[in-house]
Amino acid sequence: MIRELHQKLINKEITAEKLALDYLACIEKKDKDFFAYISVTKDLALEQARKVDEKIARGESIELLEGIPGAIKDNLCISGVRTTASSKILDNYVAPYDATVIKKLKENGAVFLGKTNLDEFAMGSSTENSAYGVTKNPYDLTRVSGGSSGGSAAAVALDEAVWALGTDTGGSIRQPASFCGVVGLKPTYGRVSRYGAIAMASSFDQIGPLTKTVEDAAIILSVIAGQDKMDATSAHSSGKDYAKYLTGEIGGMRIGIVKEYIDGLGEKEKKAISEIIETYKKLGAEIKEINLPHIKYSLPVYYIIVPCEVSSNLARFDGIKYGLSIDDEENSGLGENRMPKKLLETYLDSRHYGFGKEVQRRIMLGTYALSSGYYDAYYLRAQKVRTLIREDFEKAFLEVDLILTPITPTAAFKIGEKIEDPLEMYLADIFSITANIVGVPAISVPGTKIETDGHDLPIGFQLMGKWFDEENVLNVAHAYEINK
Ligand code: GLN
Repeated sequence: MIRELHQKLINKEITAEKLALDYLACIEKKDKDFFAYISVTKDLALEQARKVDEKIARGESIELLEGIPGAIKDNLCISGVRTTASSKILDNYVAPYDATVIKKLKENGAVFLGKTNLDEFAMGSSTENSAYGVTKNPYDLTRVSGGSSGGSAAAVALDEAVWALGTDTGGSIRQPASFCGVVGLKPTYGRVSRYGAIAMASSFDQIGPLTKTVEDAAIILSVIAGQDKMDATSAHSSGKDYAKYLTGEIGGMRIGIVKEYIDGLGEKEKKAISEIIETYKKLGAEIKEINLPHIKYSLPVYYIIVPCEVSSNLARFDGIKYGLSIDDEENSGLGENRMPKKLLETYLDSRHYGFGKEVQRRIMLGTYALSSGYYDAYYLRAQKVRTLIREDFEKAFLEVDLILTPITPTAAFKIGEKIEDPLEMYLADIFSITANIVGVPAISVPGTKIETDGHDLPIGFQLMGKWFDEENVLNVAHAYEINK
């Protein structure tokens, strides 16, 4: 898609301004029903687009992404733009700086249409934890678009953006991509700088693209990847053009499958994944069963370590430094009877009013697991099991080049179906969280559609690759996309 639009821009079949206006018109038309966007940055988009048009008019050459409109998850900072992380506590927060990914996209001439909806601070799988409302599924308005990057996935699926950025701590790019029928890539931990992403769990978080095609994901990754002095965990990696590796040739590639994962699926989902495996066999890949003995502990490991990191990262939201403060009368709900507060009361009240239920739950779980007497039994033990899971992957990657798994147990679920039962919601993350526990790159690729209550709902599948082997992950995904 990006390449075709780029061609149209340089052939002067369309201007960047007109392209941005077309997408803005689509947002205007559809977004009142779906709610993919928290804010639309029309002025910024048009200003960025006009700059590209001026360049073209001067006869200068433009980069692939120049003038191509996209959407940014609202937990990524754009200087001068409201950035809420879908939380009341950041309702009035305007970012004073650009995230590194934003800086890079700006340097490459990308156009920003707006900021997309998410679960509060990226905690959730449905956007139902957003302080602003739920993003509806593009295929069925009664269903969720997934989460936490549900707004980004829906925006791309609805043609309200050509591409979008999301963040993925335990599936938040890949799961909504699966529910909305788009491609979602979580890069290797360290591939993309996290500077300027509002942190959830820092040893899991990665930023990545959601797009219509694998090539588009490769194009975005090429722009946002790279080492950054503002993020000590960003890895050495020279600028690469990932799109170059999309040959579609995968003969001899060894793809591992995990039997327990597939056996646990429902009939329709099992059939869908079996067809995908057959396609890969036809394309010349070798399918091998592999054993990952410790992945059965992924859910407890994730849901212990992540809340620990959450409780520490969210300590900064104290009602003083950012956003909502209890002294902010309108938001406090306390009205005129408000009395001057002690500092501790300001902290407590701001966090009580500012954070939603799920965020409070995780802060409490994390604080508990880190407290003295429990630290060894929970946090430390979970970290040890995390190492065992990583070792499982190291061994598996001696035998196979990639691992193919489901990404979600089912297609999109109904709005309200799981929100009252957090455990139900967590359990559905079973296939997505492991890639973040071990840090490998993982992509969700649209597979077949599954008929559910009269709607044909998309469902994706996942490919996990070796650390820093995005080339193969993207190429094997691309091979399916062009041959399915
Ligand atoms: N659903 C997962 C969670 O709630 C993943 C979130 C994410 O990747 N940001 O933690």
